Amino acid sequence: MTRRIAIIGAGLSGLIAARKLKSVSDVKLFDKSRGVGGRMSTRYAGVYEFDHGAQYFTARDERFQSAILDAIAQGVIAPWDGRARYLKNGKIETDTGGERFVGTPRMNSWAKCLAMDLDISLGGRIVSLTRKAQKWTLDFEDKSKEEGFDFVVCAVPSVQAQALLPEDFSGMPEIKAVKMDACFALMVGFDGAHEFGWDSLRTQLGPASWIAANSDKPGRGKNKTALVVHSSPEWSNMHADADKAWVQAEMEASASKICGFDITSAPHRALHRWLYASVSASPQQPALFDSKRGLVACGDWCLGGRVEGAFLSGLAAADNILNSL
Ligand SMILES: Cc1cc2nc3c(=O)[nH]c(=O)nc-3n(C[C@H](O)[C@H](O)[C@H](O)COP(=O)(O)OP(=O)(O)OC[C@H]3O[C@@H](n4cnc5c(N)ncnc54)[C@H](O)[C@@H]3O)c2cc1C
Repeated sequence: MTRRIAIIGAGLSGLIAARKLKSVSDVKLFDKSRGVGGRMSTRYAGVYEFDHGAQYFTARDERFQSAILDAIAQGVIAPWDGRARYLKNGKIETDTGGERFVGTPRMNSWAKCLAMDLDISLGGRIVSLTRKAQKWTLDFEDKSKEEGFDFVVCAVPSVQAQALLPEDFSGMPEIKAVKMDACFALMVGFDGAHEFGWDSLRTQLGPASWIAANSDKPGRGKNKTALVVHSSPEWSNMHADADKAWVQAEMEASASKICGFDITSAPHRALHRWLYASVSASPQQPALFDSKRGLVACGDWCLGGRVEGAFLSGLAAADNILNSL
């Protein structure tokens, strides 16, 4: 008999788990958002587009490198050879590091490609899981239900996994020990092309800790300038509940100082708050599997955050289930 598997979260980890499990089971993905990709996301604002979550990714693991090569061949990922710089003590230096990749033409393009031919239900938030006669039921915020799953993969940020999974889930102590940090994303859209002298700039000046000329990434339209400014984890955690207008003003002032001109002259400015952006304490286990209950928790937080961590965690979640069949 075909096993039914529910995957909560259509970010990268959930999508990767789904693709691997689909050949041997009946897999259904669920996400509360209107689109797939989770934090590998793109915000559309009229003529502007902003990758306001993940900025780029690097690849160390061979399995991830191989998946990236496939996606490059499909045209949904490209290397980002932009001028990576950092600003320290008033001096701009080259930011060295591994090869950087981005989704093309948008950060969410790879996720959209991975989602093709998967069974996905969007726009419904799951609030709890209940078990009856060895089968799981997903309970939604709007009181609807989806029943009859043999396994549930919980591919959501740790705080949301903690709220969804039963208290006696075997990986609960590890989940509770995870620490995820907030991040504010300021999105600034200018008319015409702007030259900053860099394509991305890391700084320690705070609150802005990262600025990217989004429109200079490969495959983006270059006749408008889209700038993404991220705040540092420390500053973001400290001001996570602060008034949004105040946060935006502080970030605009910080970014203006770094860019050397007043960015508030830009016709488009908007702020997004990510409550769970990056990971500062992680179990460093690829996924947490409770074989007795048929539950797996996965996501970037299992492996210290980042896109590569999400990919490897999704693979591990699928392997845990496949090895138990
Ligand atoms: C501001 C920011 C900057 C970043 N920069 C980088 C970077 O430069 N490089 C890098 O490698 N990584 C970066 N990251 C991290 C990277 O985006 C993540 O590691 C990766 O996208 C996580 O994938 P995931 O599948 O684990 O989780 P997510 O992408 O968060 O997917 C989880 C999904 O679960 C859904 N969900 C949650 N709760 C529920 C529920 N109750 N019911 C239904 N659905 C639910 C969410 O809607 C979401 O789509 C950044 C992230 C942010 C936010």
